[in-house]
Amino acid sequence: MRKKMSLTPKSMISAEEQSRAEYKHGGREVKGNSKKVNQSLNESLDGEIQAFLIDEDQLHTYDDLTKVNPVTQTTVLKCLQARYSMKVFYTHAGCTLVALNPFQPIPDLYSLDVMKEYHCAPQPQEFKPHIFIVAEEAYRNLQGQMEPVNQSLVVSGESGAGKTWTSRCLMKYYATVAASSSVVKSQDTVDRIERRVLDSNPIMEAFGNACTLRNNNSSRFGKYIQLQLDRSQLLVGASVQTYLLEKTRVACQPAKERNFHIFYQMMKGATDEQRKEWRMPKDQQFVWLPNAEKTLEEDCFQETLEAMVHLGINAEKQGQIFKILAGILQFGNVNFSSADESQPCNIEEQSKDFLQRAAGLLGVPVDELLACLRVRTLKAGKQSVLKPCSQSECSVRRDCLAKLIYAQLFEWLVTFINNSICADNSIWCNFIGLLDVYGFECFPVNNLEQLCINYANEKLQQHFVAHYLRAQQEEYVSEGLEWSFVKYQDNQNCLDLIEGSPTSIFSLLNEECRLNRVSDAKKFRGRLEKELCDNANISWDKYSQEAHFTVAHYAGKVNYQIDGMMEKNKDPVPRELIALLQKSENPLLHQIFADKDTENAKSKGLSKVTVVSKFKNSLESLMKILHTTTPHYTRCIKPNPDCKPLTFQKEEVIIQLKACGIVETIHISAAGFPIRIPFKSFIQRYGLISKSSAFKTVVHTGDLDTDKDSLRPAVDKLLRVVLQSQVLDPACQRDSETHSTLVHCGRTKVFLTQSMLELLEDQRKKVL
Ligand code: ADP
Ligand code: MG
Repeated sequence: MRKKMSLTPKSMISAEEQSRAEYKHGGREVKGNSKKVNQSLNESLDGEIQAFLIDEDQLHTYDDLTKVNPVTQTTVLKCLQARYSMKVFYTHAGCTLVALNPFQPIPDLYSLDVMKEYHCAPQPQEFKPHIFIVAEEAYRNLQGQMEPVNQSLVVSGESGAGKTWTSRCLMKYYATVAASSSVVKSQDTVDRIERRVLDSNPIMEAFGNACTLRNNNSSRFGKYIQLQLDRSQLLVGASVQTYLLEKTRVACQPAKERNFHIFYQMMKGATDEQRKEWRMPKDQQFVWLPNAEKTLEEDCFQETLEAMVHLGINAEKQGQIFKILAGILQFGNVNFSSADESQPCNIEEQSKDFLQRAAGLLGVPVDELLACLRVRTLKAGKQSVLKPCSQSECSVRRDCLAKLIYAQLFEWLVTFINNSICADNSIWCNFIGLLDVYGFECFPVNNLEQLCINYANEKLQQHFVAHYLRAQQEEYVSEGLEWSFVKYQDNQNCLDLIEGSPTSIFSLLNEECRLNRVSDAKKFRGRLEKELCDNANISWDKYSQEAHFTVAHYAGKVNYQIDGMMEKNKDPVPRELIALLQKSENPLLHQIFADKDTENAKSKGLSKVTVVSKFKNSLESLMKILHTTTPHYTRCIKPNPDCKPLTFQKEEVIIQLKACGIVETIHISAAGFPIRIPFKSFIQRYGLISKSSAFKTVVHTGDLDTDKDSLRPAVDKLLRVVLQSQVLDPACQRDSETHSTLVHCGRTKVFLTQSMLELLEDQRKKVL
């Protein structure tokens, strides 16, 4: 048996834990054997209360950060550090789970036995904090309910913090616990669906992940997987939705970073025969394949191939996929030159072979490919005019073609995976959604990608706050307490600034793209300054003429560069390129582009569905789904920037605690009444403070089986006594706190702040 949480009694847990426990059984309070509960309550009440009064030596034992007192960045940090040094990586923070990345495999932390332990425990939340508690809670919420609410597990954190790892753990957990071999079903079928669901991971990671400065296996897209469960809670399928693949990486890799894994996997893992077919000799240098000498465990071609086979991507399709990828690589070695930038340019002599091979692999005529890169078709009324491109325009078109092909191939793969793992609607009835999206980003230079990513994080934070407060509110209301006393930070103003209507950063960016003129970054800054000056979340450095703006996100200020932002938002795709790819003799490439309507692109302006509009729409659909589910939040923290095992750097952690709003989260609960004690337990512990003999009788005889209604006046009286003594003793008077901010008496419980708890404890000690 694993070590039990030291702070377990249900009566004393905070609001968030309470809601966590209650969600576990779909809103019903968990009631164990009452005798046992009382017993354990008596045994550990002292320990419980001491836990609120900080003891540094014991910090590592605090399973929930809401128990740290006072809640400050320093105390929270100290607690996490103490736990990390004891190799404890998970800690509750109210209704969220904080996961610190160990950066080394921890034996037995995720083993089958541990999964079973958490799965089979009557009360898994009494075990040490673990991602499996979250997994199990979500799973049990779907159990035995007439109309269960679907569940979402939201995993956030910065790059390298452990989101994808956590998502994988969760998938493995469900693939294990939700796959009962006792079910009358051919073992084969059961095997296949779980395996297929798990096998979607290596494929998507091969095509969507890359080695970056922050993480050797960084996901360059966001993903929401819905695990579909049938009436008997068995995993019968899954569906995947992806967001904003960083396609620019195909043609442009930041210094010291790499392209997507799949290219390296091919380069390292291809057989001699494949090398010939893909025109990839071992010693060939590819411009778009930097840092190939780095050895990564992710460069595992065989695993990707096997996963593809399991998912039904046969050898023929695989061949077509790899030819397309090989074509892209060849393409990266094609360069153009001209006497000067204003002159039409041509392909460099030494690039001709690469172009020839690229055309062969992509199955398009080489002369047409070259023409597409060199010449632009302009529409003048009904007439088309051909205009030669400059050297830089040629390179832009080359990159654009590569990005277009790669992004569409990725999309095709995701659709294929969905077709392979998605269960028929008649089979599944509930889902558990796993959200693994990029965390808040603030780099030295930030552009449209960061704006979108940070916007997504604002949306998630808003959802988190709304949901979390609603959960608290429900308990306050059900206990007959007034609700207005919990304050929280609302990020609506920031969201209005980014996406609001009629005027916001997104609306102005889109307008700029619609006008179809050459974008001027400085002018755009002027427009933002004029149109958005009323919003307090945007600012400018008055002394800098640079085209930039600064947004005050809930997680911190980010300075965005305007240069290039409009072009990125337009993401123009020359229709000649699409028309060319539609002619491809590579059946897959042909299929991928067959339904892309070039005419439509021209007349309705397909290219004018801007990046931010698309992203906003897909995020809104995601939020709609999330709102219908019961969410569970996991915040992953990266303890050091170098991915070093078991190394905790305070400064790094502080920044992330701020960015993911952990301290704020704990404060939300601290701002309320984090300590809740049922009347009975309250009188048991504090009854002796009152001089009233009635209490003494109750306390001494332990006759507390009276119902709640008769306990309430007694509790009220006791509180009055304590608070009056407080008023009479100016030495102990605490700030300007009034009674109502210290304590509330609900229908069945007393709601306390930490100060009130301390006060009660002081009084209790005096009479002991
Ligand atoms: P993210 O998706 O947040 O960018 P990853 O999930 O890819 O980060 O994690 C980065 C790396 O950290 C992983 O490749 C793995 O080596 C390590 N890691 C993350 N979580 C754990 C864990 N719980 N145990 C051991 N190693 C981990
Ligand atoms: Mg990731």
